[in-house]
Amino acid sequence: MNDLRRSLPAVSRLLEEAKSAGLLDRHSRALVVQAIRSSLAEARAARGEPPAEGWVAAIERHLAQRHRRSLRPAINATGVVLHTNLGRAPLALAARSAMADALGYCSLELDLETGERGSRQTHTASLLREITGAEAALVVVNAAAALLLVCNTLGEGGETIVSRGELVEIGDAFRLPEILQKSGTSLVEVGTTNRTRLRDYQLAISPRTKIALKVHRSNFRLTGFTSESSLADLVGLMKERGIYVVHDVGSGLLIDLAPFGLKGEPLVQESVAAGAIVVFSGDKLLGGPQAGIVLGPQEPLYKMARNPLFRALRPDKSIIAALEATLRLYRDPATALREIPTLAMLTADLRVLKRRARKLARKIEGAEVIPGSSSVGGGSFPETELPTVLVALPQAWPAQQVLALLRKNEPPVIARIENDRVVLDPRTIMDGELAPVVEAVRRVRAEVEGP
Ligand SMILES: *Cc1c(COP(=O)(O)O)cnc(C)c1O
Repeated sequence: MNDLRRSLPAVSRLLEEAKSAGLLDRHSRALVVQAIRSSLAEARAARGEPPAEGWVAAIERHLAQRHRRSLRPAINATGVVLHTNLGRAPLALAARSAMADALGYCSLELDLETGERGSRQTHTASLLREITGAEAALVVVNAAAALLLVCNTLGEGGETIVSRGELVEIGDAFRLPEILQKSGTSLVEVGTTNRTRLRDYQLAISPRTKIALKVHRSNFRLTGFTSESSLADLVGLMKERGIYVVHDVGSGLLIDLAPFGLKGEPLVQESVAAGAIVVFSGDKLLGGPQAGIVLGPQEPLYKMARNPLFRALRPDKSIIAALEATLRLYRDPATALREIPTLAMLTADLRVLKRRARKLARKIEGAEVIPGSSSVGGGSFPETELPTVLVALPQAWPAQQVLALLRKNEPPVIARIENDRVVLDPRTIMDGELAPVVEAVRRVRAEVEGP
């Protein structure tokens, strides 16, 4: 140990200093002592160098850190609309307030007309039926859970046929064969990676076949010499044999976005109309909270609702509230496109983005407005690039350091690097976030350019 380290002050002395500075009036003694110990540990790690900001300031900094929540709101300047690490879909204002309203007591499972016990599913079921044309609907905690429930209820002890081209990994430990295995159904693979015909399914049918499962290839594309059977043909083949066709569409697209240049994602309504049991997420293209939705005919969904797994996978009241409010917006597609942030961001007009980028760049000296592209994210519309307008921060700034400083800002601003420059994409920056972004960049400038 060198002299500097030996000459570090005692905890008791720092506690006296903290007390004179009034820290004990605002924080408990235990918290202040913890912050003192952290400050001393920091100084020891710096070879005994006392904090440049002074001991009291260092202790205050550690106290502030302890008070800061781990899960904090962040500004998404990446241009990735469904950013899984940032919580996927940002909720519509109506969904946020419905969620907040439900957090105390609410009519979750009470029928207010009769006073009898109700079902938490009623709040969303009729809306889902109305919007999609399905006979019945169930909501669980996410699409992986929904798939587990469907395959366990309908396929346990029997066989489930899946094309070799659809045995996908969605990411984050979601691998289709593993989910099927856990649900207790035996996987029967048919076809090849690139081609699976209706006849392949037909030849695989056995007396034990319970389900034919189609999975949307949501996070990759299969191109070239490929073929797959249509959902309607598959339903036609299986129906007369009493085998359920399940379609995992992934994203929950409820409005055709082809007019906005977004093609290739299955529309939920089409899969429902084809006669399949349809499974998808609530927090991808649907633009709602994390949830897994199952649509289909009455009878199989009734069976699912009586499966003990259904109870284990049920969503809480805040999810039901947010999903109901989001679905209400879909009653008028124009309202949905305007009010649901995911849809509004995906369909944002390039001229609007350009205006927002210019407005932001004007407030950042040395920033430039350059063309670029945003992406959908969340395993939806893979490879689709949405033309956007980026605000590039000054070329001379060290990109990695700037990215980290923005991330550590309060609120955190998450950006990305392109050609060695940090860029901000106005597509995913929400209303009211421009000012905090400008403020964050001002702090970064002070750090990298000096006073
Ligand atoms: C994203 C996705 C899932 C998983 O959905 P979660 O709601 O995240 O559980 C399942 N299947 C497909 C095809 C998906 O794209």
